[in-house]
Amino acid sequence: MSKVSEPLPNELFSSWLFRQGAIPRVGKLPLYDLVEIYQDCMQKGDFYPDFDQYSEFVSRSLKQLELSRSDFDSFSQKCSWLIPRYYRGAFCYHCFCDHIQQFKVPTMLAEWCSVFHTVCSIHLVPLLDTPGVYNYKLSMALKLFGYYHAANNIVFKAHSGLEIEAMPALLSVQAYMFRVENSILSEGVDDSKWRLIQLLIRVFLYPRHGIITSLFPKQAINTDTQLFRYNLHVGPLASNVARRRLATLLTGLILDVVEDGDRPIAERYLRSFDQRHHYFDNFSGLGRSANVFTQDRGRQLSTQLIELSRNIYNPHLDGFISGFSGRFR
Ligand SMILES: [Zn+2]
Repeated sequence: MSKVSEPLPNELFSSWLFRQGAIPRVGKLPLYDLVEIYQDCMQKGDFYPDFDQYSEFVSRSLKQLELSRSDFDSFSQKCSWLIPRYYRGAFCYHCFCDHIQQFKVPTMLAEWCSVFHTVCSIHLVPLLDTPGVYNYKLSMALKLFGYYHAANNIVFKAHSGLEIEAMPALLSVQAYMFRVENSILSEGVDDSKWRLIQLLIRVFLYPRHGIITSLFPKQAINTDTQLFRYNLHVGPLASNVARRRLATLLTGLILDVVEDGDRPIAERYLRSFDQRHHYFDNFSGLGRSANVFTQDRGRQLSTQLIELSRNIYNPHLDGFISGFSGRFR
């Protein structure tokens, strides 16, 4: 990549591409050419500009920059549970500031597109989320950063002491999930632990009625209440980062991946969101409250939870599942 600037570790392809055009280092790589390719490809069909190495957009962009397909390798997908690009709005403010200092423009990182990445492991702060729906563009980072500054009273809630204090627990859960997700990339590995993580997060983030969703009643996700499987899958993909952070932490506590010393503060952090329902007081009660489903669907989920946790010895998980399954016994 001699003619272009190197990507940051984990930078999104579209973000890096935007930088080449916005701040050309060597030779002329006009931004409008890249934007034109993007718009032209968008009109022909929807595509993932960041993770689909065989898309026409990637081929034409690489050609424009006189790069080969192997130069795209550093952008290859490192996470499998991706938030669809029209729902991506999470970012680390401090990362943006660092990028601006380094490159003059903010950049987007791939890990911000992952469902369970909700804190910045470089700056040890929670990711922020911009409200609203975006028309995804190559200049997404610039747009989010601009929005933050235009409406920072809405977007920026000063990180509370509790949230910062819960950072070690949040980071350890995030790192654990990243390890589990990566371990299944090699073939033939049992993926039940990964599927269990996904199922728990989906249950917590079930639109409208899931327990975390119910703690944020003003931010409903519009869904058809009849479509159970659809809703189960869409919840984590369309939920904002604050909700995903709670679901991830709850899942980590159930799976017992938080150090004993970090647990009390993590539990206090969770309870600060829930002074009314006491969902988070004990694992069996949490399981009972998390089962917001009709009897048939609750039974299906309960069967899956039992199956996926068959080889795991963990009293917290057992308590959760017995609470979840309780009314069907
Ligand atoms: Zn950061």
